[in-house]
Amino acid sequence: MSYNQGPAGYNQQQNYGVPSSQAGRNRSQYGGPAPNNYYGGGVNAQPPPPSSGGPPPMGPPPQGKQPIGAFGEGRGNPPQQQGYGAPAMNGPSSHGTPPPTSNQHQPYGQPGQNGYSSMPPTTQGAPMGYSGGQPNRVPAQPGPPNQPPSSQPGFYQPQPPQQPQPPQQPQPPQQPQSPQQPQYGATQGQLSNQMNNMSLSGPPQGPAQGSPQGPPSGPPAGPPQGMGAPPTNMGRSQPPMMSGPPPTSSMSGPPPASRPGQPPTSMYAPPQPGQTNMAPPSMYPQQGGGYNATQPAGGGAPAPYSIGGAPQPSSMGYQPSGSGPTPPMSPASGMPRPGGPQQYSGMGQPGMGQPGMGQPGVRQPGMAQPGMGQPGMANPGMGQPGMSHPGMGQPGIQQQPQQPQKKLDPDQMPSVIQVIQDDRKNKGNQQFITNIRGQCPPLVTTDFQVIDQGNSSPRFMRSTMYSIPCTQDMIKQSQVPIGVVVSPFAELPENEAPPPIADHGPNGPVRCNRCKAYMCPFMQFVDGGRRFSCAFCTCVTDVPPEYFQPLDHMSRRVDAYERPELSLGTFEYIATADYCKNNKLPKPPAFIFMIDVTYQSIKTGMVHLLCKELGSLLEKLPSEHGMKESMIRVGFVTYDSSLHFYNLNSALAQPQMLVVSDVHDVFLPLLDGFLVNLSESRAVIESLLEQIPQMFAETRETETMLGPVVQAGLEAIKSSDRAGKLFLFHASLPIADAPGKIKNRDDRKLLGTEKEKTLLSPQINFYTKLGQECVTAGCSVDLFLFPNSYVDVATIGQISTLTGGQCYKYSYFQAANDGERFIHDLNHNVQRPIGFDSVLRVRTSTGIRPTDFFGNFYMANTTDVELASIDSDKAITVEIKHDDKLTEDAGAFIQVAVLYTSVSGQRRLRIINQSFNCCTQMADMYRNCEMDTIINFLAKQAVKAVFNSNPKAIRDNLTNRCANMLACYRRNCASPSSQGQLILPECMKLLPLYINCILKSDALAGSTDITTDDRSWLMDTVISMGVSSTAVYFYPRLLQVNDLDPNSTDVPLAIRSSVDRLRDTGVYLLENGNMMFLWIGLHVSNDWVQDVFGVHSPAQIDIDSSKLLNVDNPTSLRVRKLVETLRKGRPRYMKLTFVRQRDTLEAWFRHFLVEDKGSNASPSYVDFLCHMHKEIRNLLA
Ligand SMILES: [Zn+2]
Repeated sequence: MSYNQGPAGYNQQQNYGVPSSQAGRNRSQYGGPAPNNYYGGGVNAQPPPPSSGGPPPMGPPPQGKQPIGAFGEGRGNPPQQQGYGAPAMNGPSSHGTPPPTSNQHQPYGQPGQNGYSSMPPTTQGAPMGYSGGQPNRVPAQPGPPNQPPSSQPGFYQPQPPQQPQPPQQPQPPQQPQSPQQPQYGATQGQLSNQMNNMSLSGPPQGPAQGSPQGPPSGPPAGPPQGMGAPPTNMGRSQPPMMSGPPPTSSMSGPPPASRPGQPPTSMYAPPQPGQTNMAPPSMYPQQGGGYNATQPAGGGAPAPYSIGGAPQPSSMGYQPSGSGPTPPMSPASGMPRPGGPQQYSGMGQPGMGQPGMGQPGVRQPGMAQPGMGQPGMANPGMGQPGMSHPGMGQPGIQQQPQQPQKKLDPDQMPSVIQVIQDDRKNKGNQQFITNIRGQCPPLVTTDFQVIDQGNSSPRFMRSTMYSIPCTQDMIKQSQVPIGVVVSPFAELPENEAPPPIADHGPNGPVRCNRCKAYMCPFMQFVDGGRRFSCAFCTCVTDVPPEYFQPLDHMSRRVDAYERPELSLGTFEYIATADYCKNNKLPKPPAFIFMIDVTYQSIKTGMVHLLCKELGSLLEKLPSEHGMKESMIRVGFVTYDSSLHFYNLNSALAQPQMLVVSDVHDVFLPLLDGFLVNLSESRAVIESLLEQIPQMFAETRETETMLGPVVQAGLEAIKSSDRAGKLFLFHASLPIADAPGKIKNRDDRKLLGTEKEKTLLSPQINFYTKLGQECVTAGCSVDLFLFPNSYVDVATIGQISTLTGGQCYKYSYFQAANDGERFIHDLNHNVQRPIGFDSVLRVRTSTGIRPTDFFGNFYMANTTDVELASIDSDKAITVEIKHDDKLTEDAGAFIQVAVLYTSVSGQRRLRIINQSFNCCTQMADMYRNCEMDTIINFLAKQAVKAVFNSNPKAIRDNLTNRCANMLACYRRNCASPSSQGQLILPECMKLLPLYINCILKSDALAGSTDITTDDRSWLMDTVISMGVSSTAVYFYPRLLQVNDLDPNSTDVPLAIRSSVDRLRDTGVYLLENGNMMFLWIGLHVSNDWVQDVFGVHSPAQIDIDSSKLLNVDNPTSLRVRKLVETLRKGRPRYMKLTFVRQRDTLEAWFRHFLVEDKGSNASPSYVDFLCHMHKEIRNLLA
């Protein structure tokens, strides 16, 4: 092997497993109370480690600036300072350094896995490090990010705790479970203030002397309950949307200028040189009705764009389609109509996506639009003062059907399905080679293989745009967000190798002296290889002698291909002690399972089920790649109004229980024997899991607590000197007299009103503070909730949100019905790739900087994103803003560094790099946008705004921004003529659709259709979603399944989410990542019903079941297989709900047909698009 193992060589994968000798995992665990406040009095307390762990031995530090905070990723960093800003540095870097032009990156291009591939970077397949990795399933997360505890005491609505609340009915999905004050008995103070040591055989503590009366109401028969967002009143009251087919709306705006017969724009015509592929759909002759293809820029003239990759606006002119009303009920399965005249295409131009970079010369001059037209524009809202958005929430005002004349043919409106299909056609099943700067990746819905050649895989980082405007002014005008969505531990398909690991030995990674960016392919070596110029701050740093290598004739290091950090977009470094707490290498993490054993948990079967499954689940704990056994320690706690710890020392014949009843000052009753090695203590653990359900079987205890439970887990983690995770299985509102006690303040009426933020913010800051303490200790918390009534997710959810954890919610849980989902979720949770005690830092090149972050984490300063854990399902969305001008030549760079502890206790850094083009033309930006990522960004921003804004302002803001983004395009990139036409940029043609979907989503639209907890849960979930999760959440996937080819295993093509696409002879499956429905038409063939449900007609189907019969025939097999495939593709296990046409549940189902008018008057896609058109015209006027 050409690379040396030495200080700078690669580390063969095998090594890691074995945390180098130093690892110190042999240290006596529990060696006494751990250094609690790792970070001393604050995040910055710790002195920054020397730069890069190894001061550059040669040469003086680069000029000027002293290194700003030489943090080892995060800790001890100067809060704000971004090293880059400092200008001064430009000079030096320039000498001899060729501008980072594209060709700079080309080289990585060796086919296949170049250079280093020969070395076994990691054994293919399993994502490194996490051997246990499972495909994917489960969760994404909760959480309003670090939301300041906005609720001041007294700030929230004091709610009369005891509302006459209708007891929950077993029937309908979800009842307005409001106040429902559990009337548990008096507080109990029975147990002595100290722990009693007793053996397991006896009943835990005198069960419930204090709470004699029976359990609260028995759990209702599990109503069909969706994952987090049950329909609630669906089924009861007559849902508005229930009736009739949604009227295809009429244009609310003024009639568009008509241009009958206008030929499809020339825009698309000239198939760009170099562009292979077939003619874009837009080239098809256009269709008479509905939309008209329009002329994009320049009317007939090919416009400047056509040159190197025209902007391809997709335009559609509305036209009063003479043909009359839109066929509302197109029975067609909604299939995209391939050959059809899709005006809004543009899509087709394959090559086009990534031209930007290659031909800088192409910039078309024209289009000088700076500032001019848009002074007024700045304030988007301006155009339409009193103007109400049709439907948008204000029922009253809702669409004035003044001009019902022109109907839009829904088939002519930009379709998600079509966009997905086109992208698959053009980019599917191909390699996506990341050697080009500013290259737009395929959509998240397209299958492709990433070949990392210098830029990160889009699976780890996606951007809203790949050509960033040079000036802030362009962003101000367009209002298109610049942002990236980072999923550092995203799971990879089997044909992609996990990021290799570089080990630079005791010196640690090579970093820029000033901004501390890590060595990566963007750094330019100069001076014969003795120094390198930083791509982020331009500072020139000496190359450490042991890292030196000469340059070839291209100024590339001769060993470039042998080193991941010089040739790859994503790779890892082994971190040195400088990157560890107290400069000590970490121990393997711990998982602590903490189980609520009050009456409710026992009664629902949760405890039994969990204990039954935990044994086999523990066998699946993640282990480092190449290691057989997981090194994760495990511990167990049960609790009600006191805490029960278990000594699982392998020397014991039976587990020992230690009870702590003084919950006001929790302490850990044992160190040794609490967190154990699974293989050593297996027998004791099994015994414990058998006994727990029996021990508490007769409990009458109904009051529970939560704060002390988390405190106890945190203490255990801290004392053992490890990072780790608490798994809390919890049933009800913590009302016992203990820290963190909260009251029932539910008041669903507030949702959707100005006051909703009080209800959606924590009622006390106890959990927020506790969450912060957990983060500091590297202790993550996952909440598995099994509530029968309000548990105040907004308050207790803080604990998982802040710690990078996850919140699961199984309302009205019944083991028989929901057990499968719960166990699947838990399995996925335990096995997914994960890192602990992590700090994420985003560095950008000069001129831009990260300004805001959305996700599950905590930030004590403005730059370090602290994550007690980060797993494959979590994404962090980062807002980027200008702080200076950019240049087209230099481009822009982003480097995300994630410092973390692996499952075996190895400290590592994962480095994710991405390069961007910069542009001076709006058209370039619009041509290189990524719609799904923009939606992820805007949705999270809107959800975060819930805490400090109000619903109307949020809606208006999103609507105006959408109009503005499109108007700016229209103003700058399209022909000024054809006022009446709606012209949409190709990459953003789905913007109106998606914005409408966000506005009507349960996460944002505060309707009283869902419970307060579900709303909080959804907000929490959305905020940590990755791009593929937001895409399907906002636009659910609808599949026809009664005509599947039994010989295929493919997922059928989706159809548009509209009731118009359903036929009563069909059966449809709908999924949004959280839940799944099977809608059964009343006239579906009896054969199909017989095959799948084993009954003769749809009327006989038991729709209360949520399981498909296990029957052995091709049709049934195919359907079940499909359901399984869809579930595997999502982080959460989606419960299947059967909906028979015209049954009451149908209203709930139709709620997810997002192209239709919604309940609470949310507009249909057609209406919203028309409204947008009007808004745009106002802005342009
Ligand atoms: Zn730098």
